[in-house]
Amino acid sequence: MEYFLNEQQKTIKGLARRIAEERIVPVRAELDEKEEFPWEITKELANADMFRVFIPQEYEGLGGGCLDLCLVVEELSRACGGVAISYAADALGCLPMIHHGSEEQKSRYLPAVASGKRLTAFALTESSAGSDASNIRTTATRERGHYVLNGTKQFVTNGGAAEIYTVIAMTDPTRGSRGASALIVEKDTPGFSFGKKEKKMGIRASATRELVFRDCRVPEANLIGKEGQGFIISMRTVDRSRPGVAAQAVGIAQGALEAAVEYARQRVQFGHPVSSLQAVQHMLASMAIELEAARAMVYAVARTIDSGAKNFTEVAGMAKVFASDMAMRVTTDALQIFGGVGYMRDYPIEKMMRDAKITQIYEGTNQVLRNAIALELMKRKAKRP
Ligand SMILES: Cc1cc2nc3c(=O)[nH]c(=O)nc-3n(C[C@H](O)[C@H](O)[C@H](O)COP(=O)(O)OP(=O)(O)OC[C@H]3O[C@@H](n4cnc5c(N)ncnc54)[C@H](O)[C@@H]3O)c2cc1C
Repeated sequence: MEYFLNEQQKTIKGLARRIAEERIVPVRAELDEKEEFPWEITKELANADMFRVFIPQEYEGLGGGCLDLCLVVEELSRACGGVAISYAADALGCLPMIHHGSEEQKSRYLPAVASGKRLTAFALTESSAGSDASNIRTTATRERGHYVLNGTKQFVTNGGAAEIYTVIAMTDPTRGSRGASALIVEKDTPGFSFGKKEKKMGIRASATRELVFRDCRVPEANLIGKEGQGFIISMRTVDRSRPGVAAQAVGIAQGALEAAVEYARQRVQFGHPVSSLQAVQHMLASMAIELEAARAMVYAVARTIDSGAKNFTEVAGMAKVFASDMAMRVTTDALQIFGGVGYMRDYPIEKMMRDAKITQIYEGTNQVLRNAIALELMKRKAKRP
């Protein structure tokens, strides 16, 4: 399908593909096996200006929008979902600052993010607050020009690797979700340490870690937006980042489809390549149809966001649900086409299936997003044009 990408989009997509094929494919199995953060690839991405893609031009970025980011995430995911999410989580970590931060915060932090010298992360989830994100317990108490943070954040992508964290904490626990605020916390701040490093099923090249705050003092100037806006900033942030998760799903599925086609062509049974069997051909055709539908939806939603539209919560959720469910089906069927060897770690397909699973879980599980979509349907009085 022709997606009418502009010159910048074509260039960054091509660059991301080159890095993915030349640098990521040769090491992805090792990164997965050793559960290592991809520092060398991060350097390559920085050298290719990939971290500039999602940063505004005023702060040394390329000023690309949601679609530009999705194109890079998709290409990296085609090779490795773990590397891709480390990159995407960097965008997630600085989105609150880009859209709600002060001029001082942006000029202080964003140029270093654009250069790839400093990674960022976004910390909302806690052990008692996953889908029910408004139930967070981490507190930020105002005290003589500072906020004093106490609490533990769970499952933070880029935890430990990032140097700049957007942390959502309660500045007024009596006000429920209206008492949450967003704060920038730097890695070396006293009272900030890292807890459990998660051992995961998939996306194992990415770091997922606890953040621990014990009387951690951050300057008042690190408050993003106003006190009490933390929850709304979080929701607006994930609205913008969900197409990125959907792009991750599209990329993983693309990698799996290509691998399945190649394998089916060369695997001979009953005297013929299995690709000559209609049962296999139909599986491949269904995979390709679903994949292209998901890609078209992700790009359309990304373009909606880039158009400056105000209300895209619902469609961003739809794209994430559709693409992630598609990726799970496509990777499962791709593995089926590989037969027994697909189940072995010698081939990349079992990793793709493991990597795909997370796209149905993070940034709002597909159940929770379906709830929100259904709620909108019930609320909507007029029919869609
Ligand atoms: C690898 C990984 C990386 C992550 N990275 C980050 C990160 O960088 N920053 C961050 O803040 N968080 C991160 N998360 C957290 C992630 O967003 C949450 O795990 C996710 O939102 C689900 O929360 P939960 O795990 O507590 O599941 P739960 O909320 O406990 O859900 C358990 C089950 O119940 C279902 N459920 C819950 N409530 C409802 C409901 N109302 N209706 C229907 N079904 C429901 C869920 O769909 C799920 O099936 C990460 C998680 C993982 C696993």
